[in-house]
Order: sequence, then C-alpha cells, then structure tokens
Amino acid sequence: TVPVITIDGPAASGKGTIAERAANALGFHYLDSGALYRLAALASLEAGIDLSDGPAAEAVARNLKPVFRDSRIWLEGRDVTEAIRTEKVGVAASQVAAIPGVRKALFDLQRNAAQAPGLVADGRDMGTVVFPEAPLKIFMTASAAVRAERRAKQLEARGLKADREALTRDLEERDRRDRERAAAPLKPAEDAKLLDTSDMTIEEVVKKVLDWWQL
Ligand code: C5P
Repeated sequence: TVPVITIDGPAASGKGTIAERAANALGFHYLDSGALYRLAALASLEAGIDLSDGPAAEAVARNLKPVFRDSRIWLEGRDVTEAIRTEKVGVAASQVAAIPGVRKALFDLQRNAAQAPGLVADGRDMGTVVFPEAPLKIFMTASAAVRAERRAKQLEARGLKADREALTRDLEERDRRDRERAAAPLKPAEDAKLLDTSDMTIEEVVKKVLDWWQL
C-alpha cells in the first residue's frame, strides 16, 4: 500500500505550506483537500445555487472535474487558482463541506490521490475519515491571532487586500462550523500527533514532520 501522511487542523494553521514542503522533501504527491471543497463552493456560487440546498450542491460536487497541473488548478478549461482562495469562497466552502452528500462526492477524488511513492494530504478529516490507515497523522494548531496574521500575509502575497479584523471573524466562523458539523467534524484522530505551530518557523515544523516520519 501507498504510504500516506495526514495533516489536519483549523484554517490557516499552516497545514498547506507544511504539507507541500514535506511532500517535496520526500518526493511524495501532495493533496490539498480544501481546494476540492473550495472548487465545489466556487462552482455552486457561480451556478447560483443556495448553499444550504444539499442535493443541488452534491450534484455540483459530483460533476467537478478539476485538473491539477504545475501547481495550478483548472475547472472547465479556466484557471481558478486565485479565484478559489478568496475568503468568500473559503466561507462558502465550509458551508458546502457540512453537506454529507458533498463529502461523499469528493471522497473518491481524495482516495485516488494516494499514488506511489506516497502522499501528504492536508485538510480537516484526512486522518479521521479519508485515510484512517495512514501511519503518520498530525493535527496542527496555532493561536487565532497567529492564524489571522498568516492568512493576511498569504492574501497580500497574492495581491489581495486583507482586513485583519474581518479575517479573524471569518476564521472563527469557519472553524466553529467545521468543529460543530455532524459530518466529519474537525478533530484530531485518536492516534494523531498534536503540534502547536504558533511559535515555530516553517522550517522547524517541516523538520518535525520529517523527523516523525523517519522514526
Ligand atoms: O483548507 P481550506 O481552508 O482551504 O478549506 C476550506 C474549507 O473546506 C474548510 O473550512 C472546511 O470547511 C472544508 N474542508 C473540509 N474537509 C477537508 C478540507 C476542507 O471540510 N478535508
């Protein structure tokens, strides 16, 4: 079987950056599962669907045919790499992610990402639901203030405006919805290693992940 490392945690906890770097260091594939929920949200918003309409959102998720190539994401021949990163789409993603049918629709896409020689997968339920057999599971956290600042810098690096107060509110709203939903709520797997990255640099966190993997 293909080895999988899962990294779960709340929004802007640093999972994505760490997962991608760890994958590069190991020569593994990288799965950004949040991008799939963001794609489902973007497609739903653009189709004018009410995000609480479960069957409609599920149908959109089932028909998603995203193409991941050279760190860019394409949907229906259109490059949506930037479009899915806005906070509006992030909040919408957490709304469609609460719909069990949407989660089911995206399950196989995620499982299929486990290809040789290995995979690093980041999200909310990688260790609890999608890859419960993974030999290394990490649950990454960081304080709310640190996470809001990281997300702000990320948006600014993409040339987008960042309102720190609004960001903190959005992150809190999203985390609450992710923790309190019935379908695959955000929580550490029983065998997950907990890592608070508030006071760590990216390099330190990557090293920690690789050290755990080599044990
Ligand atoms: O990780 P990211 O912030 O891009 O994810 C956007 C939203 O997608 C999250 O707030 C969460 O609601 C949802 N998500 C999820 N399960 C995952 C990954 C993301 O429910 N595995």
